[in-house]
Amino acid sequence: MDIQRIEDWGLGLSTPLLISGPCSAESPEQVMETAKGVAQHGTGILRAGIWKPRTRPNSFEGVGTIGLKWLKAAGKETGIPVCTEVANVKHVYEALRAGIDIMWVGARTTTNPFAVQEIADALEGVDVPVMVKNPISPDLKLWIGAMERLQNAGIKKIAAIHRGFAFYGESKYRNKPQWEIPIELKRHYPQLQVICDPSHICGRRDILAAVSQKAYDLNFDGLMLESHPNPDKALSDAKQQVTPTGLGAIMSGLVRRDPQAHDPQEMSRLESFRELIDDIDYQLIDTLASRMKVVREIGKYKRDKNITILQADRWNEIIRDRLDQGTPKGLSEDLLTEILQLVHKESIRHQTKIMNEGKEVKKGVEENKEG
Ligand code: PEP
Ligand code: MN
Repeated sequence: MDIQRIEDWGLGLSTPLLISGPCSAESPEQVMETAKGVAQHGTGILRAGIWKPRTRPNSFEGVGTIGLKWLKAAGKETGIPVCTEVANVKHVYEALRAGIDIMWVGARTTTNPFAVQEIADALEGVDVPVMVKNPISPDLKLWIGAMERLQNAGIKKIAAIHRGFAFYGESKYRNKPQWEIPIELKRHYPQLQVICDPSHICGRRDILAAVSQKAYDLNFDGLMLESHPNPDKALSDAKQQVTPTGLGAIMSGLVRRDPQAHDPQEMSRLESFRELIDDIDYQLIDTLASRMKVVREIGKYKRDKNITILQADRWNEIIRDRLDQGTPKGLSEDLLTEILQLVHKESIRHQTKIMNEGKEVKKGVEENKEG
C-alpha cells in the first residue's frame, strides 16, 4: 500500500493523535460545548457521528445532514479539523459538500465489500483522508481489503482504527480487543498508522484509561475517545462516553513510553535479552520439528495398522497432563490450551496426509476460506 502518514495529511496533525468528540451530534450546542471542552486536552481531530448505524431500529439514528454544519462550526471555532462516519455514497457526497476534513468508515460498513467499494468509487479523484475501522468480525483480510479498495480509488491518506471485535458470550469488553489482529496489521504494513478506539472496545467508562494505556504501550499512533458534556444523557453510547474533563483526566494519566531505547547501555542490555529470546525461539522451533517427526512416525504406524488418527481419550489426557505441568510454571491455561490445540491440529494435518499418501485427495478444501 502507498500510504501518506497522518503528519503529511496537510492538516497540521501530529502523533500520538487524539480524536475526540461525541458519539453522535445531537444539537449545535452539544457539539460546540464538547468541541470547546476537548480542545483543552490536546484533541487533534473532532469527531461526531451524523448518521448512526444502530444495531436495532427505532433507536436514535443520528440527526442527519444538518449535523454536518454544527460539526464544521465547532471545527472553525476551535481550529480543529473535523471527521464523521460515512456509510454510503450519499453520506460521502454530503460530507464532501459540507467540507468535512476527514471521513471514517465504520465497523459495520467495513464488513461489507459492496458498501466499501461504493464509497471508494464515490471518492475516486478526491484527496480526502479516510480512516477505516476494523470489521465487526475478527477478519484481518476484510480490514485490509477495505483499505485496498480505497487505495485502488487513489486514496493515499489512510489510517486504520482498531475498535475491537464482536463475540458471543460474557466479557468485560463490549468488543474484544484481540490485540494480535492490529499487531499483525502493523507487521504487514509498517507504514500504516493505527489508532485505537477504547470507547467502542470498552463500552464502559471505568476501563477506558487502562485500555488507552495498553494501546500506548503497544505503540499505537493515537486514540479515539468519545466525549459528551453530559454522557449519561447521550442519545447513543451513553455508558462509554466521558465529559471533556474526564477525557483530560484519562489523557494526563497516560504514560507515553519510548518505542526504542536510546541510552547505549540500555540498548546493549535490551540487545542481550533479545539474543536470549532468539535462542529460545530457535529451541522452540527445533522442539516442534522433532515433535512433528515423531507424529509422522505414529501416522505411518496408524496407517499400517488401520487405526484412526484421533483418539479422544489420549487427547484429553495430553491436555490434562500438560496443564498440570505448565500452570505451576506460571503459564496460563489459555496459553497452554491454545498452543496445544494448534500443535494438535497440525499433527492431525500431517497424519491425514500420511494416511492419504498415494490416494487422490481433493484439493482446496482447507485453503478456500476467503470467499
Ligand atoms: C462510532 O464511532 O460511533 C461507531 C458507530 O463506531 P463503530 O463503527 O466502531 O461501531
Ligand atoms: Mn459510538
